[in-house]
Amino acid sequence: MSVEGIAAKVRSGGRVDGVEALELYRQGSTPLLGRLADEIRARKHPEGVVTYIIDRNVNYTNVCVAKCTFCAFYRPVGSPEAYVLGFDELFRKIDETIAVGGVQLLLQGGHNPDLPLTWYEDLFRAIKQRYPAFKLHALSPPEVIHLSRLSQLPVGAIIDRLTAAGLDSIPGGGAEILVDRVRRLLHCDGKATADEWIDVMRHAHGAGLRTTATMMYGTVETDEERVEHLLRLRALQDETGGFTAFITWSYQPEHTELSGSEATGVDYLRTLAIARIVLDNFDNLQASWVTQGGKVGQLSLAYGANDMGSVMIEENVVRAAGASYCMDEAEIVRNIEDAGFTAKRRNMHYEILGEPIFREREIPRMLELAVAREGGDTSLPAELSVYPARSRAGKRLQRARNAELQEGK
Ligand code: SF4
Repeated sequence: MSVEGIAAKVRSGGRVDGVEALELYRQGSTPLLGRLADEIRARKHPEGVVTYIIDRNVNYTNVCVAKCTFCAFYRPVGSPEAYVLGFDELFRKIDETIAVGGVQLLLQGGHNPDLPLTWYEDLFRAIKQRYPAFKLHALSPPEVIHLSRLSQLPVGAIIDRLTAAGLDSIPGGGAEILVDRVRRLLHCDGKATADEWIDVMRHAHGAGLRTTATMMYGTVETDEERVEHLLRLRALQDETGGFTAFITWSYQPEHTELSGSEATGVDYLRTLAIARIVLDNFDNLQASWVTQGGKVGQLSLAYGANDMGSVMIEENVVRAAGASYCMDEAEIVRNIEDAGFTAKRRNMHYEILGEPIFREREIPRMLELAVAREGGDTSLPAELSVYPARSRAGKRLQRARNAELQEGK
């Protein structure tokens, strides 16, 4: 079918197949893709509201055994730069988040062999005990799989135990491109194959959890593989209806083993638009201002996005790979309103919580995103001694720590 024919099909509310999506993605002009995506956004959200959430993006550990080649964030077990956040540090971060109107933590981390399932359960319970209304949007599918392997329990049992401890929803991280050829090249098929990632989401949706879905593009994949990724998400959404939103961002190459260059802003807008066109069963698409910057983030609202994502407060992962954009609530709202939309706060379920908080009360301006820990602090939290380490380096550290405690240090 010609590009014009496919565009007419999209305009009449028809569903594009893989061949049509690829033709449109490759041959459609950028303004055409934008117009089609914007029309879908307007059909799904006719009230002209663009949402955002105030939450905090916390990475509880940077220790990871997965070693994806596109990742600049992780440190190997035993690294002098390795860290694990303590429960008290996480409580402080939650206090700071609540102080600026935040409603949840987006909690993700490396695959640390020295943190057993009970550490996560105890953490989640402790958070829910102190902050009963605060939400935990936590642990991407590869982290769930890591815990399943570590605990020798099926994925379903891990999700049930984490939910019983306080897990509210699952972020769609670790999807990269859901094609195993790409995953093998990125050395991330070991942490989760495409089928395994989908299977965790299927389990989560079956257990009543809502999740998001993501796509990191711009590494080694082809255009066909980007489209295949979108089709896999659409098929699961047809089956379960459990995804609340889709977020795409471009690979950030600095300090990574894979290296290379970053995709352009135009490529981002085209990819966002084709996602809006293919994912006809997703209600919400987020703008990724943290990798694209505020201006392209704002332009995303004309290319299919109806949500500005998170105020975020803290970010460690894409910053490690060179992206360092920061927007506080006032800046996000300004970008939304300058684009002609009404800004509203939401929760993870995309339920409207209200007007911008900074208009209701004094909120300090935030000019820089916080980091997990200041100044490379790698001190071990006291409670870690309760959880038996699995790695050799972890055991060595734990012995040293216990000896210090016995000596009353
Ligand atoms: S992307 Fe995640 S799983 Fe892969 S190395 Fe980085 S922290 Fe580990």
